[in-house]
Amino acid sequence: MRIDLHSHSTASDGVLTPSELLARAAEKEVDVLALTDHDTVAGLAEAAVAASKHGVRLINGVEISCTWEALEIHVVGLNIDPTHKSLEQLLTEQQEKREARARLMAERLEKAHFVGGYEGAKAIAGDAPITRSHMAKWLMSQGAADSMGKIFKKYLSRGNTGYVPPTWCTVAEAIQTIQAAGGVAVLAHPTRYDLSNKWIRKVLSAFAEQGGDAMEVSMAQQSPQERATLGQWSKDYQLAASVGSDFHYPSQWRELGRQLWLPKEATPIWTRFI
Ligand code: AMP
Ligand code: MN
Ligand code: MN
Ligand code: MN
Repeated sequence: MRIDLHSHSTASDGVLTPSELLARAAEKEVDVLALTDHDTVAGLAEAAVAASKHGVRLINGVEISCTWEALEIHVVGLNIDPTHKSLEQLLTEQQEKREARARLMAERLEKAHFVGGYEGAKAIAGDAPITRSHMAKWLMSQGAADSMGKIFKKYLSRGNTGYVPPTWCTVAEAIQTIQAAGGVAVLAHPTRYDLSNKWIRKVLSAFAEQGGDAMEVSMAQQSPQERATLGQWSKDYQLAASVGSDFHYPSQWRELGRQLWLPKEATPIWTRFI
């Protein structure tokens, strides 16, 4: 069975609509797909219709941005009830924070002589909550740099002109709210926070202590060594293991459902809901 429990659509910063995403999942022979947009569940209704059309099992998901020790940590909620009131409330607050942050980012970018960032990013985001990806795409259109990577490095990452320190909810709030909505809380991509192993272990330990259920062990573009280490850590911290491409757009590097096997010592999270 091919399973992918982390993906994005145009409801956040992905480039495929939920329908297009599910069509691609079917084409790539994915049996189970979780749509986990940033701080929104707005794509799930359309995804559900497309999933039944294509014979793909859809898992309702969300990826919540959190603050922990001044770091930005992402927590994925899987098998959530998207209509649950406290989840809805938390996501509304997160979306308001995204809106305020986008305005602040734009103000800061004006100092670097990029005028109109809020309107620009908003036009690209459409109905989606504004992410740094949208701001980056607008900066590209203004000729700020020729790749997303360079834009993030130069303008949007910690310490740069357009960076606004986050005010996201705490990891504990995200875990509690996801679980209240009937879901499981998964620490997203532990190796993608630019942290030393010592700090990744601290994050995992805190996440487990606060009642988190699982951590992502298998991701796209990952070395066998990294996967093995994460498998071992999932055992050490008694967290179940999840798998996810974090697909945002078609490319040769990251594909839905591709090579997401788990090391044998890891305990899959999906047996709790599949
Ligand atoms: P936000 O949640 O608004 O802070 O936006 C973060 C999003 O920006 C991530 O989910 C990625 O999709 C994207 N992102 C982060 N870093 C980079 C990067 N170096 N290059 C391209 N996209 C990035
Ligand atoms: Mn993203
Ligand atoms: Mn993420
Ligand atoms: Mn993601």
